[in-house]
Amino acid sequence: VPQLLVIEDDPRLREAMIRSLRASGHAVASAATGMGGLQEALEHRPDLVILDLGLPDVDGAELLRILRAVSDVPVIVATARDDDASAVRALDSGADDYVVKPFSAAQLEARVRAILRRGTGAAAEDPLTVGPLVIDQAAREVRLDGARIDLSPKEFDLLAYLAARPGQVVTKRALLAVVWQTQFGGADKTVDVHLSWLRRKLGESAQAPRLLHTVRGVGVKLVDPDA
Ligand code: CA
Repeated sequence: VPQLLVIEDDPRLREAMIRSLRASGHAVASAATGMGGLQEALEHRPDLVILDLGLPDVDGAELLRILRAVSDVPVIVATARDDDASAVRALDSGADDYVVKPFSAAQLEARVRAILRRGTGAAAEDPLTVGPLVIDQAAREVRLDGARIDLSPKEFDLLAYLAARPGQVVTKRALLAVVWQTQFGGADKTVDVHLSWLRRKLGESAQAPRLLHTVRGVGVKLVDPDA
């Protein structure tokens, strides 16, 4: 049975969606906040996420980008009628489809079925390669220039997240949200400390970076030094 995750803060709408989707034979989990939804998605790996764009704690589009960086799970966004632009932005950010509120149970079910019919996107997690760095996500092993390096779980998660989007600047806020699943606005210092440990294990420093580069005032990026 496909597992669905509904992320919606409006309790009446959330309950109505859960009821109708369960009546159609799906297994449904739910979250009332963006961060709760992200945590649920990372821990239980649903087959499909239905994401409300108007959430109290995180902008839905930002949550979608974070989710996209770590997961291929199909996402249907739910957006308010007076906000077509946000639906377009969501599709640009990697949503698979969208529904406009108010939508019927039948409309939602049709979109859910269409996406599930495409087949599960449960692709094998191929190793991530960035220049001399190879990250085996299934085995949680990292090799640099062919030599195994030992990372703590958090360091591994940080590196894997950055390696999934090489050359792209990632904010510390995003790292904090993804790796620590902490509310936005948490302590950047935590990220800084782990980044500095990670740097040391990669055999480099902030002053003389090879793979891990700081973009002052914005965040960090992992780059292929040979590219
Ligand atoms: Ca909402």
